[in-house]
Amino acid sequence: MGVVGYTLGGGLSPVLGRTYGWAADHVRAIDVVTADGALRHVTEQSDPALFWGLRGGGSNLGIVTSLELDLFPVTTFYGGGIFHPAEHAESVLHAYRQVVENAPDELTISVALLNFPPIPEVPEPLRGRFTVHVRVAYLGSDTEAEELIAPLRAVGAPLADTVGRRGYDTFAEVHQDPTDPAPYEDCSALLTDLTPEVIAAVLERVGPTSGSVVTVLEIRHLAGALSREARLPSAAGARDAAFMVWGTTVGPPEVVDAGTAGMNTLLKDLTPWTTGLPHQNFPSREAVAADVFAPDALARLQRIKQQYDPQNLFRAHNHNIAPAPGHTA
Ligand SMILES: Cc1cc2nc3c(=O)[nH]c(=O)nc-3n(C[C@H](O)[C@H](O)[C@H](O)COP(=O)(O)OP(=O)(O)OC[C@H]3O[C@@H](n4cnc5c(N)ncnc54)[C@H](O)[C@@H]3O)c2cc1C
Repeated sequence: MGVVGYTLGGGLSPVLGRTYGWAADHVRAIDVVTADGALRHVTEQSDPALFWGLRGGGSNLGIVTSLELDLFPVTTFYGGGIFHPAEHAESVLHAYRQVVENAPDELTISVALLNFPPIPEVPEPLRGRFTVHVRVAYLGSDTEAEELIAPLRAVGAPLADTVGRRGYDTFAEVHQDPTDPAPYEDCSALLTDLTPEVIAAVLERVGPTSGSVVTVLEIRHLAGALSREARLPSAAGARDAAFMVWGTTVGPPEVVDAGTAGMNTLLKDLTPWTTGLPHQNFPSREAVAADVFAPDALARLQRIKQQYDPQNLFRAHNHNIAPAPGHTA
């Protein structure tokens, strides 16, 4: 995953997210080639509208050649993964709900239902079996962290527990995302709450006895710094959301199609608890701009697009932002 695509879509860190907020909130300057061929050094002072729109507007406004970002004094953290067997799924989801209810901003935590096929690329003990993966990152003391996540360990003996003090350079081990390319399709929804009804719907549609082929279904806690306004506002972020539900299916086309259909059914069931938008970095393949951005943000992005790319040269994303004729930013 590239830092530019990640940051232009907001950038939701699995380790720093709830403590420090969206990656886009910490961009100081952007070098970008706009549709007129000009290389611009864009800051809040130089081009406030373009600076606002680039951070969240994705690849719609130009080609970014460099980003200047804030750094944070994080060298180690308490984190890793707890892998539970399928039969713990319901208890883990309810324990997760209990943990996030009073979680401090320093705790960024998600839970994923993993349904990996029996292929050699998947390591034991996850190969060909359904597991529940709790992903933990805490930017505080080990003792505080142990207390906070105790309910997630108390549900029963896990298959594996890698949570402990670790160097920041091992942050990718928290989610253990694949590093090799693979065919997949994903989609997401932002939730205002994680109620028992949401948990029941998730278990019914993609739980261990559902027959679902969705490979990973993740519930990620947002809020904390992710809900606070940034020092320099941008088009990025899901500040009114408390959780993200994200699902992906990896495999041959027929499996991916079945998984995507299953995800669409689940997201429809979850409608009463959604904000109506996906996370900007995880829209579905069919999503158009009006599905991804709130109406006021989209209108503002269209005015910026009209000023900087009136011919709609940059339209790589399927959620392309069309210029708004007759408007200037
Ligand atoms: C396994 C996995 C885990 C992920 N985890 C997270 C996560 O935890 N949090 C999160 O927020 N997102 C996550 N994502 C989503 C990821 O942030 C987006 O897919 C993002 O768009 C990836 O950017 P990229 O540059 O790597 O991808 P690409 O597919 O190369 O690009 C994505 C988009 O960004 C545009 N783009 C890329 N480079 C530039 C550039 N230099 N200038 C202008 N536009 C550019 C492309 O045109 C394209 O439209 C994950 C994705 C995967 C596959």
